[in-house]
Amino acid sequence: MIFNSPYPSIPRAPAQDIPTFIFEYADKHSVFAKNPDLVALSEKSVSLTYSELRQMTDQVASGLVNNLGLKQKDYILVLLPNSVYYAPILLGALMAGLVCITANPAYTEGELAHLFNLCQPSAIVTVSDNYRLVEKVALSTKNQLLQGRIVTIDQSERGIFLFDILCDKPFDKQNLETKTAFEERPAVLVLSSGTTGKPKGVELSHANIISNLLQNMVFEDHESAVDLLTQRSPYHSCIACLPYFHIYGLLLVLLFSIARGRRQIVMPKFDIELLCQLTEKHKIAVAHLVPPIIIQLAKNPVVNRYNLTSLAYIVSGAAPLTQETQREVQKRLNCIVAQAYGLSEASPVTHRATTDSVPPGSTGYLLPSMHCKIIDESGKLLGKNMIGEICLSGPNIMIGYFNNPEATRQTIDSDGFLHTGDVGYVDERGCYYISDRKKELIKYKGYQVAPAELEGLLMDHPAVLDAAVIPVYSRSQETEFPKAFVVVRQDFASSSLVDDIAKWVASRVAPYKALRGGIEIIDAIPKSASGKILRKVLRERQAAEDRLT
Ligand code: AMP
Repeated sequence: MIFNSPYPSIPRAPAQDIPTFIFEYADKHSVFAKNPDLVALSEKSVSLTYSELRQMTDQVASGLVNNLGLKQKDYILVLLPNSVYYAPILLGALMAGLVCITANPAYTEGELAHLFNLCQPSAIVTVSDNYRLVEKVALSTKNQLLQGRIVTIDQSERGIFLFDILCDKPFDKQNLETKTAFEERPAVLVLSSGTTGKPKGVELSHANIISNLLQNMVFEDHESAVDLLTQRSPYHSCIACLPYFHIYGLLLVLLFSIARGRRQIVMPKFDIELLCQLTEKHKIAVAHLVPPIIIQLAKNPVVNRYNLTSLAYIVSGAAPLTQETQREVQKRLNCIVAQAYGLSEASPVTHRATTDSVPPGSTGYLLPSMHCKIIDESGKLLGKNMIGEICLSGPNIMIGYFNNPEATRQTIDSDGFLHTGDVGYVDERGCYYISDRKKELIKYKGYQVAPAELEGLLMDHPAVLDAAVIPVYSRSQETEFPKAFVVVRQDFASSSLVDDIAKWVASRVAPYKALRGGIEIIDAIPKSASGKILRKVLRERQAAEDRLT
């Protein structure tokens, strides 16, 4: 059985690039239309009004082409923490026809090298602290394209200062090639390991992203909770604490808020007390969060010190949220907490919960214009209330994995359904529940950690003969931690070996990938006859250990 969305379908995405769509939408439907001098983005002492954002977007587009010599379809790596300048950089690059790779600025040399090998960028926008690292990686990956095109958003002796490349000469769109349909024109490349292996580039088109914006707009138009925002916050301010480089923050916070006329209060780094301070100060009404942050709102005593009565609507995504935490926060803050579900490969949102008819624990209804099939191991279609793999189709499903037709074929079937690797079911009402994950992925605080990446790294350690990494769940932090099982060479055995390996790994990966779940030395990694790691056996072993402790 194929399940459909209960919402009216969205129209086909207009044949426009993302910035044109967003600004036209805001000009027609949002408060920015009447008052373009309202602040659209604010961070500490810097802010950008809507009209400044538009102007700077044009200047970035023109600067990238006229001053840096970039051409349509070139790749630009946006390696930035959240900042008010993220939006004009991203939108300007997209306006110039470039493809934006968004990535974590905390990436280490090895992680950046993997990214460069995947897709050589022709320009980078980053912070000056990253300059030397980027230069080193460009050298080690033989990247010739980047020379003279490392742009930094802060002024320093190194790199080109962003404000020095802004160009007032109007950006001429006429020169852009227009033959490729917007459905096939890549706009954004984000990293995801998908159902297996190391991180791959998820190629999302302009039409994918615009469709997902429209799908979320139709959803919100049917969601009564949104009325609360007007009552509680004059500018419908929202907090931008999720990283913009992750597609959840990029689409639902950065792009959606501009189109909708919401003010974004930008947080470069998450901190619970700062979140509370900013919420009180800016009367924040909307917060897109992940479960480990929501549990802090439920339990952290710091929350009591601030007036958070403006908070009307919290959306929880990127990982499962427990019903207890959902209820606790709703009660403590007298606000709505609703789940959303999605994945990078779907631009990302596919399901959202309404406040009235969706039971706690559910990720809600399928978004407009989406179809779902739930299948068993043999691929047979399952009915309602039957647990299986969730497969999705719709206009927001990615073009494919960048330069990886094989992985794309394994993920999107011949009927156009994306196999999510998530396991769940749909009830009689059409509400979905995610009950398990069959793909290898580990989610630490909403961030993806690919077991294959850590296993590959561990195998490079001189003492490690074999390795497997699985998730272990921390109830108190409401997140998964990566845990490694390793087989070690006897001649390396020592009482400090586990610590040494942990430190060795931590120094080679971004902090969120550290082996917080620990390292356990075992005699052999369980494997199938074909040599595949039997993660299920390790997960069961771990569950048995957890029951004993
Ligand atoms: P990402 O591509 O980084 O956005 O990760 C997507 C994955 O996060 C999904 O395939 C799920 O495994 C998980 N995920 C996202 N939202 C939820 C949710 N509401 N409940 C459970 N898992 C989720």
